[in-house]
Amino acid sequence: MTRAMPAARAMASRPSLEDLAVLGVRPAITPESKPFWDAAAQSRLVVERCDDCGLHVFPPRGICRRCLGRSLSWVDVAPPAVLHAFTHNHHPWAPGLGVYTVGLVELPEHDRIRMVGVLDQLEREPRIGDLLDFTFTPFSEGLTRIGFVPWLGA
Ligand SMILES: [Zn+2]
Repeated sequence: MTRAMPAARAMASRPSLEDLAVLGVRPAITPESKPFWDAAAQSRLVVERCDDCGLHVFPPRGICRRCLGRSLSWVDVAPPAVLHAFTHNHHPWAPGLGVYTVGLVELPEHDRIRMVGVLDQLEREPRIGDLLDFTFTPFSEGLTRIGFVPWLGA
């Protein structure tokens, strides 16, 4: 029998999603997304930018959702990101996998693109609007997970 973990302890023992590799959970790498994963392996966060209208596009799809242009370039994104929403996952997707926090973050200087990632190194309950830095963690056969940690400033 397991006891419910107090919230403070759950946050201190937050696992990373490397544990999910045992489930065979991994994103599909497509021709459109490969540059994104290659950049992540170099500890860079990149998104597509439309060469015609300038809109930033994520997830990678090789087409602009505003003008339908098919000429896109990859641009580097600098932190901070802004926390838009979050949830604590309590479901034990794998044996031993504890509580972790998933955030929906926004990139304010890149057309407010939103992406999902695990929030790590939290020392308190996250708040909407928190500034976040990026982390890059290799986890499975050439894949690097992009996560988010509290922003400590430039
Ligand atoms: Zn466009």
